[in-house]
Amino acid sequence: MDASADALQTALLGWYDTNARSLPWRSPPGAPPPEPYRVWLSEVMLQQTTVAAVGPYFAKFLARWPQVQDLAAADDAEVMAAWAGLGYYARARNLLACARAVAALGGRFPSTEAELRALPGLGAYTAAAIAAIAFGERAAVVDANVERVIARLFAIAEPLPAARKPIRVRAEELTPATRPGDFAQAMMDLGATVCTPRNPRCLLCPLAGHCAGRREGAERFPIKPAKAPKPQRLGQAFWIERDGAVWLVRRPGQGMLGAMRALPDNGWSARGDGTLTPPLAGPWQLGGAVRHGFTHFDLDLQLMLYSGTEMDRLDPHDGEWWRLDRLEEAGLPTLFAKAARLALATR
Ligand code: SF4
Repeated sequence: MDASADALQTALLGWYDTNARSLPWRSPPGAPPPEPYRVWLSEVMLQQTTVAAVGPYFAKFLARWPQVQDLAAADDAEVMAAWAGLGYYARARNLLACARAVAALGGRFPSTEAELRALPGLGAYTAAAIAAIAFGERAAVVDANVERVIARLFAIAEPLPAARKPIRVRAEELTPATRPGDFAQAMMDLGATVCTPRNPRCLLCPLAGHCAGRREGAERFPIKPAKAPKPQRLGQAFWIERDGAVWLVRRPGQGMLGAMRALPDNGWSARGDGTLTPPLAGPWQLGGAVRHGFTHFDLDLQLMLYSGTEMDRLDPHDGEWWRLDRLEEAGLPTLFAKAARLALATR
């Protein structure tokens, strides 16, 4: 390690000692590390999701499933419903698969990055974060915040995604052998609170003296590739109501929003868009539309309201009547929760 890396680590850890964010899944700087279960659960939840949004979900999961074995023994549907609203539902399915693999190992998470990486659904970032934060291994932890800080510190000129390679090399060089977990969390905190995407607060930054990007205009980094516009899809969801209840289905286990409870729809999520027929022949009326952004496309979902009387034709194997006054408990993903709110508002 060269002298500048040493000075940078000292500056950052010194800053972290007084500026660390206090978060429910963390230990304070220098304190014994948090349980791997807490680190893992929080890191999975934090992927693509803000700290503010994760807080209540983390508390709920921990209260309901205090140990990884408790989560491993939980019913899939219960976990999916508890996850509802957090988005990116593949994470919840991976969470369960990983919890069960850890339970099969006697309930103890493996302690090295390489062994953690072998667990189902546990990616490079999460494995490094658990290894560094919970077990003190010298693992380079690179999330979007860290990526931004390093791209700026070294004024990395390649655009993303090619920039990820030099960013990783720099991250590995910078990660110290002592306090690697605090170092990782310090980088995350610096990215979240000082080296922010817009208007970075360079005057307050403990690394300002080491930063090449600052002199070249920090906001330029990391350099972004030209963006392709997101495709637009059109779908339909079907609202069938009887005696204060609505007809809900369970989505197939694989695919988008897999295994979640939902309104029946016309198959908009599959490639080829919307070829499934409605659950009843009709009559249907258009009740409005909701818009929702997914990672790879935007969806306009039309809400179709059933105004017929043939509800007895619905096959109980295909779905269930869910009481409207308990709709909150159905664990509908955000898209269908929006559609349900629209349906209730237009009745
Ligand atoms: Fe980011 Fe500015 Fe600090 Fe450089 S000096 S790391 S650009 S906040």
